[in-house]
Amino acid sequence: MVDDTDLEQLRRCVELAAAALDAGDEPFGSVLVTADGTRVFEDHNHVSGGDHTQHPEFAIARWAAEHLTPEQRAAATVYTSGEHCPMCSAAHGWVGLGRIVYASSSRQLSTWLTELGAPPARVRALPIGEIIPGTDVDGPVPELAEQVRALHVRRHRTP
Ligand SMILES: [Zn+2]
Repeated sequence: MVDDTDLEQLRRCVELAAAALDAGDEPFGSVLVTADGTRVFEDHNHVSGGDHTQHPEFAIARWAAEHLTPEQRAAATVYTSGEHCPMCSAAHGWVGLGRIVYASSSRQLSTWLTELGAPPARVRALPIGEIIPGTDVDGPVPELAEQVRALHVRRHRTP
């Protein structure tokens, strides 16, 4: 179940995704929220420099491993504009983070990119549950997914 608090965090993720696009990166944004509801870290995609591992969920996993105890990580929630890719799902699992809430799914992204004529991704888009089964996952959220789709349309239609 996605509640109003979740929606507020997801809206921030979509803002970060828009900021990424404005910076020449891919439109993905994510935040890390501890058990008491504090947003302790946020980031957006940074692949424009050529390093295609610079995903926000991966940055969150590394930050969490450095700054939070295992108990704090397990009780934390990662919110993200787009469902984790397999690399980020694995990183999330390896550092023992908790719940994931996403605005749009990997399946939606694949469909959108195909419709937009984007080249196929090098890495398969597997659902989070295929990589880290047992993780509490919620999404997509239709209203916000539509906003994320609009960002991908902007990215692929702007030369
Ligand atoms: Zn990723």
